[in-house]
Amino acid sequence: MTQGKMDFIDRDLQELKDEGLYKNIQTLEGAQGAWVQIKGEKVLNFCSNNYLGFAADPRIKEAAKKAIDKYGVGPGAVRTIAGTMTIHKELERELAEFKGVEATLVLQSGFSANLAAIPALADKGDTIISDELNHASIIDGSRLSRAAKKVYPHNDMDGLEKVLKETPEGKKLIICDGVFSMDGDIAPLPEIVELAEKYGAMTYVDDAHGEGVVGRAGRGIVDHFNLHGRVDVEVGTFSKALGVMGGVIAGSKNLIEYLIQKARPFTFSSALTVPDTAATLEAVRILSESGELVEKLWENARYFQKGIKEIGLNTGLTETPITPVMIGEAHQAADFSRRLLEEKIFAQAIGFPLVARGKARIRVMISATHSKDDLDFALEKFKKIGKELNLV
Ligand SMILES: *Cc1c(COP(=O)(O)O)cnc(C)c1O
Repeated sequence: MTQGKMDFIDRDLQELKDEGLYKNIQTLEGAQGAWVQIKGEKVLNFCSNNYLGFAADPRIKEAAKKAIDKYGVGPGAVRTIAGTMTIHKELERELAEFKGVEATLVLQSGFSANLAAIPALADKGDTIISDELNHASIIDGSRLSRAAKKVYPHNDMDGLEKVLKETPEGKKLIICDGVFSMDGDIAPLPEIVELAEKYGAMTYVDDAHGEGVVGRAGRGIVDHFNLHGRVDVEVGTFSKALGVMGGVIAGSKNLIEYLIQKARPFTFSSALTVPDTAATLEAVRILSESGELVEKLWENARYFQKGIKEIGLNTGLTETPITPVMIGEAHQAADFSRRLLEEKIFAQAIGFPLVARGKARIRVMISATHSKDDLDFALEKFKKIGKELNLV
């Protein structure tokens, strides 16, 4: 009997299961928040990127509803034909003000912002110089560009300079995440910018986990390092701290004009929906008025990280509210995560290949929505399970 032409699917799925890489997806039975419901149980949510609680903020929900009444739900077209509405322009203008750039361009997601910007900026004969831990959407955007790709060791500035020296003619584009999502560490952007200036390279930072988190009232990594005007391209997402969905590219007027003409996800995929656009606009307005929630987020992060260290566990390299609780082997981290869920804490175990072997961890995503009681509850459980598993 001949093999079925789709047999590879079963084979590959089995292989993922054998390697422990098969994704089992949890379903939330309600809104995002400090606590969420899974399989009928309320569990403390340590898995979401909803840093500021904006995903279900009443002001933001109201803004989305109002915009639906005025504009409907769908954009009806791509931005370049009939999909650009007043509300998109308002968001682009207010985001530019918030971030202190000349202009911004709104896209459907952070992923699509990278697919839009990278291939527009680098082509055959050019070189993309990329941190080894960059996000998948940067890797995919780089592939689409057909530029040569060189990778430097994570946050290693000697490594970056070495690559820059060896890079031949053609445009050079240095790309890095602003905040790295697995360790919560921050790219050394001032050094990267200096090297870029020395070697005539463009700089491109994807600040998905930095927006709404670092910088004054969450203005992002460029603001955090006070590098305004010295980073060529800033990419962001609306799906993390801003609590919604969508992506943005920020930079000079010229850059944005160029991307409007060139970027394929802008031209060939419909505009961001009305409720997403309105909700993001409201989130930006809230942050423009007050950094209170961002401060609460950092207060929570410091409190929890201190508590974890007092238990005798460690939080790795983090400099942000992303809190890796280092465990060691992948199977131990998986056991830890399973025990946490039994104790009503929803926190993800992360192991190889997302992080190096032996560096498996529980990744705790702290939010401004967590109360001190929530964090104390969690610390108690981390201590209890840490003892059970002989980790402390
Ligand atoms: C999450 C993330 C993205 C994807 O953003 P979406 O808006 O969810 O598509 C892109 N880049 C980085 C660095 C991210 O962390």
